[in-house]
Formats: sequence, C-alpha cells, structure tokens
Amino acid sequence: MGTSTRRAGVRTRVRAPKSHDVKAPPGAHDGATEPLPVIFVVSADTSVVRALDADLSRRFAADSRIVCAVGAEEGLARVRALAARPDPVALLIADQRMPGLNGVEFLERAHALHPHAKRILLMERDYTTANPIISAMTHGQIDYHLAKPWAPELGLYPAVTEFLASWASANGDGFSLFRVVAPENSRRAHEIRDLFTRFPMPYTFHATDSDEGTALLEEIGQTGCEVPVAVRHDGRVLVGPTDLDLVEAIGGETRPGAEVYDVAIIGSGPAGLAASVYAASEGLETLVVERHVSGGQAGASSRIRNVPGFTWGISGHDLTYRACEQAWLFGAKMIFAQEVSSLRATRDGLAIGFGEGHEATTRSVVLATGVSWRRLGIPRLESLIGAGVFYGAAGTEARAMRGKHVAIVGAGNSAGQAATHLAKHAATVTLLVRGDSLSKSMSDYLVGELRRTPNVFVRLGVDLVDGEGEEQLETIVVRDRASGELECIASDGLFVMIGAEPRTDWLGDAVLRDERGFILTGADLPADGWPLDRPPLLFETSLPGVFAAGDVRHGSVKRITTAMGEGATAIQLVHQYLDTDAS
Ligand SMILES: Cc1cc2nc3c(=O)[nH]c(=O)nc-3n(C[C@H](O)[C@H](O)[C@H](O)COP(=O)(O)OP(=O)(O)OC[C@H]3O[C@@H](n4cnc5c(N)ncnc54)[C@H](O)[C@@H]3O)c2cc1C
Repeated sequence: MGTSTRRAGVRTRVRAPKSHDVKAPPGAHDGATEPLPVIFVVSADTSVVRALDADLSRRFAADSRIVCAVGAEEGLARVRALAARPDPVALLIADQRMPGLNGVEFLERAHALHPHAKRILLMERDYTTANPIISAMTHGQIDYHLAKPWAPELGLYPAVTEFLASWASANGDGFSLFRVVAPENSRRAHEIRDLFTRFPMPYTFHATDSDEGTALLEEIGQTGCEVPVAVRHDGRVLVGPTDLDLVEAIGGETRPGAEVYDVAIIGSGPAGLAASVYAASEGLETLVVERHVSGGQAGASSRIRNVPGFTWGISGHDLTYRACEQAWLFGAKMIFAQEVSSLRATRDGLAIGFGEGHEATTRSVVLATGVSWRRLGIPRLESLIGAGVFYGAAGTEARAMRGKHVAIVGAGNSAGQAATHLAKHAATVTLLVRGDSLSKSMSDYLVGELRRTPNVFVRLGVDLVDGEGEEQLETIVVRDRASGELECIASDGLFVMIGAEPRTDWLGDAVLRDERGFILTGADLPADGWPLDRPPLLFETSLPGVFAAGDVRHGSVKRITTAMGEGATAIQLVHQYLDTDAS
C-alpha cells in the first residue's frame, strides 16, 4: 500500500515498496533497475556506517537507495561512479572526522558532482563557536548537521525526511495537477510557471514545439494552438487562460463578498500574511487582496537564513505558503489575481476598488503592497521580458536555465542568492556589477560562496547597456565604465535585481507619501497632513483607519521578519482604531 504526504495543498504519491528495493549490505546497493533517489553515507568509522545504514534503511529503503562507503577515498570513487548512473543523488551524509579529507572537504567535492544533493555533516557534539559547522554553514558548504550519536526519531529521520521532500519538490517527482503547453520562451509561459510555482501547484510544462507538447495538443483537439493551454487533472482544458482563470481552476477565490470587513489587507507578502494571520486569528472579519498569488518578494528567495527558528534556513516560497494557508485556516478570505486600484473614505468606512469595477467595503485597511524591482529601461531588453529577461524570478526559472549561460544585473544580497541558486543549474552565471567591489553591497558569506562556485563569474565596473534576440534573449551588451569599451556577451537568461520601488502609484492622493513614493505613517506624518485631534497611531497613514506595514512604509527595515512584525503590529493598531474611532 502506498502512503501519502501532504504537499502543496494536494496529495502527493510516495511509491509503495517493490521487491527490488529490498535492502542489501552496506556498499552493495548499486544493482537496482529503476532510478531511485540515492542517500549517500561516508565515514571512516565502520560502526558509524553500519549504524547509519541500518537506521536509514529501516525508514527510507522503500523509496530511496542507500549507498555507503568507508573512508573518503572509497567515498569519492563511489560518488564519481554514481555521477555516471541514472540514479540521482538526493542526499550526501559525510562524517567530519575522516583522515585525508574531512567531511566538509568531502561534501564540497561530492557536491560538485551532484549539485542538486543536500549535504549533511556528521559531527561530534561541540557547541562552541570553534565548531567547523559554523564556518561551513556561513559559507554555504553544508545544509544541515547531525551530532553523533544520533537519535533516529529525533534528529536523523526528521532531517532526512525534510530534505528528501525538498529535493523531490525541487527536482520534480513526476506528479502533476496541471499540464501546460506554451511557446517555451514567451512571457506568458513564464507568468504561468511563476503562478503555479507560487501557489504551489504540481505541474508539468511542455514547449509547444516539443514532441510531448504536440502530442498533448493533439489529444485535446487543439493542434497548432499558439496560445498557452493548461489541462487540469480532471481533463478540463483552459485555452489562453488569464491569471484569474488559473486561480479559479486551482480552487482559489477571486472575488470579495458583499459584507463589510473589519480589515482589508492589500498585498500578501510577509507583512500582509502576518497581518492576515493575526487579524483572522483574533476574530476580525478579514479580507486579503493580492494582485498575483501570495509570497511577495520573499516568495522569490530560494533560501532565507535569517528567519529566527529556521535553523537551517527555509525557502521564501515555503515560508510564505505556510503563512498563507495558516491565515486561510483562521478564516481570512484570500482573493488572488486581483489588483487593488483605488482607496477612498466613504460614509460607511473605507472602499477599496478592483480592476473590473468591483468594490469592497471595510472598516480599516492595512497597506502591505511592498516594492517591485526597478526597471532597466532598455527598450530591447524590456521587450524580451519573460523571453529570457526576468525581474527576480531566479527561483521559478532556475531549472529552465539548465546548461545555459545566464547573467544577473545587481550587487545586493538578492543578486548573490540568485547567483548561487542559478549556478546549480546553469552552465555559467555572470554577475554584472557597476561598482568596483561586491563587499560594499553583499553579505560576506555570499561573497565567499560566489568565490567558491566555479561557474560563477563576477564582472566589476560594468554597465548593462543593451541586448537582443529574435524571439528570446541571445546577447547582452555591457560597457566597461573605465574604458567605455562595449562587449557583447552570449546570454540565454538575464535576471534583473537592481533595487526596488514602492508599489504605491495607484494610491494617488489617498495617503501621504515621501518623495520616493513610500507611505508616511505615525510620527513621520507632517502636522498639516493629519486631520484628527488625536495623534496618528504608530503605523497609521494620513487617512485615519488606514495603516501601512512592511517594505512599502517609509522608514521600514526591508527584511522578512520586520515586515512580519509590522504586519502583526498593524493589527493591534487596527483593534485600537476599531475600538475607539470606528465603534
Ligand atoms: C530575492 C530576494 C531575496 C530576499 N532575501 C531575504 C532574506 O534572506 N532575508 C530577509 O530578511 N529579507 C530578504 N528579502 C527581502 C524581503 O523579501 C522583503 O523585505 C519582504 O518580502 C517585504 O515584505 P512585504 O510584505 O512588505 O512586501 P512584498 O514582499 O513586496 O509583498 C507585497 C505584496 O503585495 C502585492 N501587491 C502589490 N501591489 C498590490 C495591489 N495594488 N493590489 C494587490 N496586491 C498588491 C504584491 O504582489 C506582493 O505580493 C529578499 C528579497 C528578495 C527579492
């Protein structure tokens, strides 16, 4: 009988044990016929290898192959041999204490052969800051550690289960609820992939001109169809679907109700999601409106290491998806694919307007619309957005960049994170930096990680000035800032990460903003910009009952946890406002 795990809000298959998965002794597992994810173990201590092999086999032998080696030399020979086989290596577990090559060094070499594998370092118990784990983790050389001796149920199994699940989700486990056919490098194909990735919805993507794409179009009677087509698991066909169509086909809500909400939260990035969780859990009638699907900028981050409690980091997508489900489970009404375009005070409270003339009435509002990537403003590159040119989106497009040459414009931490993530898939990643040093704008650990990644190249002192391609990006043009020399670089992908601007144009004069468009709140409001006798509350805007939280707020810190903290705080202020002014 198969078991199932809850992932992405849907049931995901875990294959039932088959006879050929029967366990063999350590080191003798290479004879299975069907490719299964490999869990690789190496230690110089035979008793450690045997114990790990036994513990891992007891729990994971049904769905993975456990391959063991004694000592670094045998280990390297085995990981090299595995690189030539179809079995993908999902997890590498190495003992730090090995003569010749320590665990961190071993993992570095093995990871170069198996870049998609997660890495666990096996260590003695040592909780001092001298522990090599701290440096290995800072430099992105390992993903997790396991202290010897381990308790299988407390340490080993949860870690291995989590890593196998994250490996399967990143590398595709063959399960899909939607099949999409679209011209591969079109902007719409990119938008659909992004929507399904963020929701998250297991899907398979076929280029229109691929054999699979042609066969699927034929099967559903859409031969030669040029617009994207999505086929749902139950056979429903969506031809040229809008985001709204897709969200509805997924089962999401797209329209507000007629009731008066206590609070309407605009935007579902970290700030909006935290506000939604607190508002709904504290009994407020909560409406959340998001122009896309939840996650915000954080949803684009492949791994966030500075959210307290997630010792080994968490993908921004996982974090925000969990928060989104949490808000929904507390009763928040979540509306996706709807952009709020107006805000005004009415006799009954406040009204927010949507694209198609819909309005929702609410007693208070939290503006959590964050920021969006600054544009390049280079017409030929702007016309290739989605066709090789992407704003952010490194997480969504990483697998599509397999074996390709990509460039990233930007020098901040998000550009560094994108470079390390894309380097796992792309043949080369070139970082284009205007300044003469990365360390002025990027965290030390990321600079070090980039230095150690052989297929990442950093070009300092250059401006991106142009680019071209017939139907998709083919080359970019950079100018050396010192010499003025122009250079064409062949490039299949360009990821733009050059800073951000607040998403507030739509607000017009509804609330006061600073000269860059960020929303003024609380003590930052000018004396003549506040209409009531009482002073404005902490995150209250110039329109009483409307609050701002997260990156969109003037003076905000621009981090995930601070955005969440502001979202949560805004709800306390909403309570105060509703209890006094609006009661
Ligand atoms: C690639 C990347 C990596 C990062 N890594 C880290 C990290 O490691 N650690 C860290 O602390 N921070 C990191 N950050 C910064 C962090 O993600 C942001 O500070 C955080 O997401 C801000 O949250 P927010 O909710 O204020 O805004 P956003 O995340 O920008 O969310 C705003 C939401 O509002 C929606 N919206 C906008 N306008 C409208 C409208 N009119 N109607 C409806 N919806 C609307 C948007 O679609 C979006 O979903 C990273 C950012 C990026 C881009």
